[in-house]
Amino acid sequence: MSQVTHKGSCHCGAVKYEVDADEDLQVTECNCSICSRSGYLHLIVDKEQFRLLSGSENLTEYTFDTHEAKHLFCKTCGIKSFYIPRSHPDGFSVNVRCLDESTIRSMHVEQFDGRHWEENIEKLRAFHEQASGKKLSGE
Ligand SMILES: [Zn+2]
Repeated sequence: MSQVTHKGSCHCGAVKYEVDADEDLQVTECNCSICSRSGYLHLIVDKEQFRLLSGSENLTEYTFDTHEAKHLFCKTCGIKSFYIPRSHPDGFSVNVRCLDESTIRSMHVEQFDGRHWEENIEKLRAFHEQASGKKLSGE
């Protein structure tokens, strides 16, 4: 595992951020109503790994159903480049499709059955814990 700083942005460039993560990304694709419509690819990270560089004033929030996830869209271009997921309310989900590809060496995509969220959430949490190396290092 080798940590790098990935750069991400929305389409118009108002929203810019950095995220510290492995260069070999472990990401999830979810089939829930909102992720399937937007084609979102999730890289879930801890708060400390994520830095919003610009555009906080340009974000608008959308919630639905349980209102736990905070979906954040750029007001100008409509792109959701990151948000606060229901599965990890103390962290962020970064949209891998919005990252600069130059720092990504490889990507493994795991499917998450978000249409049956309650039945599958523990699997998702375990996957991201393992991906972030927490289980291996015993943190
Ligand atoms: Zn934008």
